[in-house]
Amino acid sequence: MPNQNKNSELVEKILSLKEKRKAVILTHNYQRPEVQDIGDFVGDSLELSRKAAEVNAPVIVFCGVHFMAETASILSPDSVVLLPDVESGCPMADMITVEQLIAKKKELPGVRVVCYVNSSAAVKAESDICCTSANAVNVVRSMGESKILFIPDQYLGYYVTTRLRRDMYLWPGFCPTHVKIQAQDIIDQKKRYPGAVALAHPECRPEVTAVADEVLSTGGMLRYARTAQAEVMIIATETGILHRLKKENFGKTFVPATAKAVCPNMKRITLEKVLWALEEMKTEVKVPIDVRKRAISAVDRMLSL
Ligand code: SF4
Repeated sequence: MPNQNKNSELVEKILSLKEKRKAVILTHNYQRPEVQDIGDFVGDSLELSRKAAEVNAPVIVFCGVHFMAETASILSPDSVVLLPDVESGCPMADMITVEQLIAKKKELPGVRVVCYVNSSAAVKAESDICCTSANAVNVVRSMGESKILFIPDQYLGYYVTTRLRRDMYLWPGFCPTHVKIQAQDIIDQKKRYPGAVALAHPECRPEVTAVADEVLSTGGMLRYARTAQAEVMIIATETGILHRLKKENFGKTFVPATAKAVCPNMKRITLEKVLWALEEMKTEVKVPIDVRKRAISAVDRMLSL
């Protein structure tokens, strides 16, 4: 109870300050439940990118990780984009630097780069087009027969190659949270919940997606759950999504493939930090204009698909 009171006090303060600052709070599906609950929009990377381009707010508080706040700054350059914890990075995005990408492009002349949004603005600026887990298959399909380098997530890239039956050069990056999920976790949960349907994120290893019934982005999982006949769903992605799945699907049961799939970076943001961000207008994430100009073409190409 004391915690609940503390949270409601914080929420009240956040809401009043948000109004004063004319701020909009964008929250990723992997955030803590109480942080998701104060979001004006809660979604996956693609949905939040679209919102960032649309909202036209003087202040955007981005409850997610650093590359997401950068994408919001690219798409909404006149807004002040605040990241409540500047240390909230993405280890997968850090697995490729712009220097490494430039060197790889030299090694593979004529290659076109498809860049998962989980990457820095500087890396996006060196890429031809961005994609998210929701639209990666369509983005690669739109590239025709070109020779493609897919960065930085090898598993999402591999999943696309299997869906489209084509080859691509895959950068050897991965998400340290999704690789914690094992195929055996899904097999064990299926034994515990006979008749359950398993939904896996394409950032999971191929042996995990192979035993899942559906491979979907988090936005895709939410849409699937709304109309699914199954009463129990096993969720193979970061466990933060379970909050929304349960909240929006009363009467259905959602269980994680494993409780180990928790992204410590996503969980860095708390209600206290959201309040401080609004009080102190910190920490602003601003993409330098020259990088923005080049990165925006890759992001816009994706959004126009
Ligand atoms: S879940 Fe994985 S890809 Fe997403 S922010 Fe965390 S480390 Fe990065």
